[in-house]
Amino acid sequence: MLIAGNWKMNKTPSETAEFCTLLKSRVGGLAGSVDISVFPPYTSLPAAVGALADTEVAVGAQNVHWEPEGPFTGEVSAPMLRELGVYAAIVGHSERRQYFGETDETAGRRAAAALEAGLFVIACVGELEAEREAGETEHVLRRQVSVLFEDDRLVIAYEPIWAIGTGKTATPDQVRKGHEFIKSLLDVPVLYGGSVTPGNCTDLLILDAVDGALVGGASLDLDTFTAICELAASRS
Ligand code: PEP
Repeated sequence: MLIAGNWKMNKTPSETAEFCTLLKSRVGGLAGSVDISVFPPYTSLPAAVGALADTEVAVGAQNVHWEPEGPFTGEVSAPMLRELGVYAAIVGHSERRQYFGETDETAGRRAAAALEAGLFVIACVGELEAEREAGETEHVLRRQVSVLFEDDRLVIAYEPIWAIGTGKTATPDQVRKGHEFIKSLLDVPVLYGGSVTPGNCTDLLILDAVDGALVGGASLDLDTFTAICELAASRS
């Protein structure tokens, strides 16, 4: 069971150091029952790696470029992340797709390069509300998954876009169907993401097809994130 916290564009380096130092003492006892990772902004990665160095909590980046170096202003490569002590990267998050022109093709290239460089990867997939209503969910998921290839270090996050940051969580039945469909395409762990809270995670984490959660907003608060990690540990 994996609980990953996507901080999005939140927490400065000093806020990160403070949060991670407290997180370390709060979740130290859960090691072995649940895998925990946090995904701060690039500028806060060194602070997170430093504060969590002697713990089981892993640190990942929210994106990664497919080239190791070169004329790609504003991008960061997998070898750069590895040298920092970063262990994983998210690719294809819906906010990257929505606001920054990410496509299935670029998400696939990012995933392949990051895996090749030795990072773990959380690749995000998920349908828009209109696509669900039009009965296109499986078609969209198949297209998004088609650019990914089975790998021991690949994890997929099923994040229905209509459930991200909206407070609308998918029902356990919708989550089960989405996860089972993704697993029929690729045999990798699948996390659920979309307005996960301590109040709704138990009903989702209990499902066989759910291997953990990618938590956005609720990962920014220490008590809330710790509570989700504890609930996941008790389900493992
Ligand atoms: C996310 O950013 O991946 C996410 C699931 O966000 P939230 O939990 O805030 O919906």
